[in-house]
Amino acid sequence: MIKRPEFEEVAENLKEIRYNVKNAVAKYRDPAEHVDIMAVTKTVDPEKINFAVSQGILLLGENRVQEYLSKKDFYDKKAQVHFIGHLQTNKVKYIINDVTMIQSVDSLKLAGEINKHAAANGRVMDILIEVNIGDETSKSGISRSSLFELAKQVSELDSIRLRGLMAIPPIGCDEGVFERMRELYNELKESYPHKSVDTLSMGMSGDYELAIKHGSNLIRIGTKLFGARKYLEVL
Ligand SMILES: *Cc1c(COP(=O)(O)O)cnc(C)c1O
Repeated sequence: MIKRPEFEEVAENLKEIRYNVKNAVAKYRDPAEHVDIMAVTKTVDPEKINFAVSQGILLLGENRVQEYLSKKDFYDKKAQVHFIGHLQTNKVKYIINDVTMIQSVDSLKLAGEINKHAAANGRVMDILIEVNIGDETSKSGISRSSLFELAKQVSELDSIRLRGLMAIPPIGCDEGVFERMRELYNELKESYPHKSVDTLSMGMSGDYELAIKHGSNLIRIGTKLFGARKYLEVL
């Protein structure tokens, strides 16, 4: 393991995040509940990502297929990889055997493609449905009004396992938006008691404590862990 000053910063950042997560859980949730911390890797070098893994990060979040394919061979295999970015149907085949969850499913077309490739590879893919909780026209995710119809269709696909919901609440939005996600998640859990709905993926660098307050059990952290990203990107 190469020692670099910016790696020490990652260790410090992670310590702070863990401390804040622990406090938020103690304050707002059942202390027995677990919150997973995902490291969001876009624009970050594999060595730095592997350093985070050496510090106990077991979950990596990928946004772009191309970038992921160029970096994945260098990743420490101890960590699982989830795809969290917008996914074009024609790219599903490139990631189907490497990721353990696709969090950004927002159409039946995409779910069908994932199902097809998962079946062809003899596996079942865990997915989350991404909800456009802020009703932002520019953002991906399914609308709240269409969520349960999509959930029903997805749950009928044999090579997909619906594990829960993902959302990106708008920056600076009302707390009620986070609470709405918790309600949708609870409703989904009740609708599919026989399925393994157990994941609410919500909360990033700027709002993870608020997300935990409102039921998130998987937070996705980029900037607060690795520092500012190397270039500006369109989500
Ligand atoms: C970039 C990204 C994150 C992390 O964002 P930060 O604000 O840097 O923590 C989380 N989720 C998704 C889907 C992202 O694209």
